[in-house]
Amino acid sequence: MSGPAQNRRVLSGMRPTGQLHLGNYHGALKNWIELQYQYECYFFIADWHALTTGYEDTSTLEEYVWTMAIDWLAAGLNPGVATLFIQSKVPEHAELHLLLSMITPLGWLERVPSFKDQQAQLTDRDLSTYGFLGYPLLQSADILLYRSQYVPVGEDQVAHVEIAREVARRFNHIYGREPEFEQKVEKAIKSLGSRNSAMYRNLRKEFQEKGHADALAKARALVESNARLTVADRDRLFGFLEGAGIAILPEPEALLTSTPKVPGLDGRKMSKSYGNTIGLREDPDSIVKKLKAMQTDPARVRRTDPGDPDKCPVWDLHKVYSNADTQAWVQRGCRSAGIGCLECKAPLIEKIVEEVGAITKRAVEFEENPELVRGIIGEGCERARQGAQQLAEGGANRRDEHRGEVRVVPASRELAAELFVLLALSGNGRVVGRAANRHDHSA
Ligand code: SF4
Repeated sequence: MSGPAQNRRVLSGMRPTGQLHLGNYHGALKNWIELQYQYECYFFIADWHALTTGYEDTSTLEEYVWTMAIDWLAAGLNPGVATLFIQSKVPEHAELHLLLSMITPLGWLERVPSFKDQQAQLTDRDLSTYGFLGYPLLQSADILLYRSQYVPVGEDQVAHVEIAREVARRFNHIYGREPEFEQKVEKAIKSLGSRNSAMYRNLRKEFQEKGHADALAKARALVESNARLTVADRDRLFGFLEGAGIAILPEPEALLTSTPKVPGLDGRKMSKSYGNTIGLREDPDSIVKKLKAMQTDPARVRRTDPGDPDKCPVWDLHKVYSNADTQAWVQRGCRSAGIGCLECKAPLIEKIVEEVGAITKRAVEFEENPELVRGIIGEGCERARQGAQQLAEGGANRRDEHRGEVRVVPASRELAAELFVLLALSGNGRVVGRAANRHDHSA
């Protein structure tokens, strides 16, 4: 691996709601499998997020968590390169969520489009809870906790990344100010060395004057890759790129991914709630039966009627699974009534049975060895906690730099306490006294 992406962090999660299906695989997992070799990836099983809509019955939650872990591993997520973990095993997610909830205006959460949409759709549940309203904020904490640069999302999820950006901006605006910021930034820029200093200034100018996101990404990578910078100077240089204060929480970016549309058996989006799925580990006989009965172009009533692939969900599956020759064969055969629908589905059935069969085979190895799975995820949780604590340590190191101390081992790894100390150092009167006292007691 080479290039700036090497040190860039990607974070994404999935709610454990039962066995995954082909929509999850092609819509997210396959993309993650590619990303894990391009970025430093953190992928988490979002069990706390599952509670935001399913808090009443938690009896299957644990089983679903481990089902998901096996699905991920069998599909090809590699714990040797990506960190795979369970959200609730890293309590810092909850701590940062709590802190962010103090500064987040209610209106921001109420305006997230999925809040009203889901309340309207999930009418069988009482979603007038803070947990449900606040889930985009928990997502923000998930992202910001690891100082993630990228969040892979589809178009419909961009609003969630946007709220994380707004929350980070607000946090930095309130707590990132410090006396003599400009002078300290100048010193930090000079410490990059003359060539890199000039490059940093040019990239900042390009971003600020022309809004080039590419220039911002390059400038961040330049700062990130400089091992000689102190933690505080690195945050100052990050902050100076976009504003006039320290970037305690860097703003993440949406990594827009064009994922193929995977239709369900009835033509709607494949989704467990519609009962139109093909499972990632489904039995071959069941796959064949389901695909044979799958909805086609409704205008094609008889075998002799010509059809229109653009009105047929089977065609969408061909776009995912078939090569150019097969696709051309479908187009010709359907429009001329040269092939029947069962004939058209045959190559798809073969491909899907093969794909699911390979995943199922790998899953059996993990199912038969639950200790291995627990070990892999346990290690991932430990690595994730260390990643999460870097934010706290960043706060601790910055505090020591302000005091001119050299810290060898962080005295406290408590994220909340460290962040409150950091807030105290920002010179913000509202929290200084309380936070400083807290630190003095614990030091
Ligand atoms: S021939 Fe294929 S594309 Fe055409 S309607 Fe039948 S299943 Fe759909």
